[in-house]
Amino acid sequence: MKVLIADDDALSRKILEDCLSEWGYDILMAHNGNEAWDILEKIDRPNMAVLDWMMPGMDGVEICRKLRQLKLPNYVYVILLTARSKREDVISGLESGADDYIIKPFNREELKSRLKIGQRIIELEHRILRLASTDYLTGLLNRRAFLERLERELNRCQREASPMGIIIMDIDHFKRVNDNFGHQVGDLVLQELSHTLVELCRVYDFTGRYGGEEFIVCLPGADKWNTYQIAERMRSTIESKKIFLLDKKSNVSVTASFGIVSMEPGQIKSADRLINEADEALYRAKEQGRNRVVMYVTD
Ligand code: GH3
Ligand code: MG
Ligand code: MG
Repeated sequence: MKVLIADDDALSRKILEDCLSEWGYDILMAHNGNEAWDILEKIDRPNMAVLDWMMPGMDGVEICRKLRQLKLPNYVYVILLTARSKREDVISGLESGADDYIIKPFNREELKSRLKIGQRIIELEHRILRLASTDYLTGLLNRRAFLERLERELNRCQREASPMGIIIMDIDHFKRVNDNFGHQVGDLVLQELSHTLVELCRVYDFTGRYGGEEFIVCLPGADKWNTYQIAERMRSTIESKKIFLLDKKSNVSVTASFGIVSMEPGQIKSADRLINEADEALYRAKEQGRNRVVMYVTD
């Protein structure tokens, strides 16, 4: 885990650096408050910071206050380091938004334990963020997380003038699976098919659960033929797949329909538009008899 150390005193910096690197932290070093702020303002900022209170330029408390005013997507856990030990000082330090407070000269073991608290908090945040972006049944990205990632990937592809493919898949007559075998088997089918999709993707592709029995795949860099080939492979793999039920004897098979679309190099399309076009192609695949891949074409 990356930790920022900000202290104007060379000896203090050296001791902190030795301790933290011995405990396995990656260290970013700032010699004064302004340097610390420059590091914290950057998008790849560390998740933890040990800030000296008294520093030339911005002091630790001011940095804390400004940091908390930024509405950051990820938390920065701050430990204030200071010789000021009066109760009012402790309170005003914490009031500025620091999470913890250590009085200099510090005890190594105490600092180690307090850093561990910060690490736990940051890891907890990562877990919560992961849960919030994951579909509970399939482990794929949920709709919101998929759309966020798609937006980012789309910007990148457009900047680099590279193509991108989108595949929307909807299981055929899935309601019958639930009706004939029960909801639990339906869930199992969703899980199995989501694994199949992920297995057939390339490493830089990503897959989301778009709705109940509807999945969406983004293929950055894939032109329309790559996209078609991958979708066709998904379709044929699903068609020939036997999903064994919990009794391990009986099995169920399903088919799925695919709507695909691609953004050609240099073309600018919004995420909404790409998804609507893939959706329209999916609608045609259903209309034409299901278990097929249909590519979106402009009329
Ligand atoms: P079509 O070929 O036209 O897509 O027919 P379909 O039956 O697949 O489509 P329809 O939209 O009529 O039904 C979708 C079904 O998916 C109904 C719903 O109960 C089921 N479903 C949605 N989410 C889940 C889920 O999480 N678990 C299970 N078991 N079933 C789900
Ligand atoms: Mg369906
Ligand atoms: Mg559906």
